[in-house]
Amino acid sequence: MKAVVYHGPGDLRVENVDDPVLEEGDVLLGVSYCGLCGTDVKTYKRGHHMFTPPCILGHEVVGRIVEIAGEPVKPDIAVGDMVAVAPYVPCYGCAYCRSGREELCTNKGFIEGAFAEYVRIPAEVVSKGTFHIPSEEDIKLACLAEPLACCVNAAQDSRVRLADTVMIIGAGPMGLLMLELCKAMGASKILVSEPNGFRRNKAAERGAVVIDPACSGTDVSAWAKEQTDGIGADVVFVCVGATEAVDAALGCVRKGGTVNIFGGLPSGSRLTVDPHILHYDEVILTGSFGFTPLQFHTALTMLTGGAIDAGSVITHEFDVDQAVEAFDMASSGESLKILLKVDGDA
Ligand SMILES: [Zn+2]
Ligand SMILES: [Zn+2]
Repeated sequence: MKAVVYHGPGDLRVENVDDPVLEEGDVLLGVSYCGLCGTDVKTYKRGHHMFTPPCILGHEVVGRIVEIAGEPVKPDIAVGDMVAVAPYVPCYGCAYCRSGREELCTNKGFIEGAFAEYVRIPAEVVSKGTFHIPSEEDIKLACLAEPLACCVNAAQDSRVRLADTVMIIGAGPMGLLMLELCKAMGASKILVSEPNGFRRNKAAERGAVVIDPACSGTDVSAWAKEQTDGIGADVVFVCVGATEAVDAALGCVRKGGTVNIFGGLPSGSRLTVDPHILHYDEVILTGSFGFTPLQFHTALTMLTGGAIDAGSVITHEFDVDQAVEAFDMASSGESLKILLKVDGDA
């Protein structure tokens, strides 16, 4: 089969590789589309501790079931079904799963890389994390279920409530999905700080009040207070991987509010936090990563049901043969979500 193989930073090649080998209960998915995630792009640019080359990246996947090995592990799946697949599922048996924090599971089951014509969905992921797409028209939207599920987890962790003022630092694909989700959750006002004009305009078009933090003389903290009757935002999501953005967030949150580190920071990063804001102001500094199958299903349902308007977060679509162009475009800042069209479902 055709696959996009990652051979190391800056080195992606479209190659022919062996088809996946199925075990009892597994499903072979013919990939229709797979979204480029921030993690994929980071890995392409500078490597990632989770991916040892050569390997196949890609996990925001939708496609058609082309083969089921043995008896289906779920009665409602059949060859020909169009599905979105959560790229990992919890074990439901470890201490974290038993305490209702399945996203922290220490024994997750994973799919393999999905920038390929076919991907093996292990039986465990078939039974816990594979969901039908209601209509073929929703197939591209369904690629956003995985990133939106991460937003659902973060928004639930940080308890976004009706009429909250939410601030989002960084209006890339994740920041914009977070914006849409918080609107759907009843936020009364959304503030967005983003230096890139293209992305800032996208946030403004979606109803956010925006600021360019790079504009000289800009005091983002003072601006956030002005926008919130002098107190600061109820919840601030840091949707960019930079410690300075966390510092900025701590200057924009109200007393008793929450700052959520949603963008990954390199391990070994250090923050300097004035403990007064944690103690006297009771600010909660937290972070969120990943999602549960329920949150993935929630995200998929919101997307396909039209509860959130996220289609225009997808700005580009490339054929699998143009994978390198797609990754270069994703690195440019002039795009949002990019999909690779694979046609393994044909
Ligand atoms: Zn992703
Ligand atoms: Zn577990």
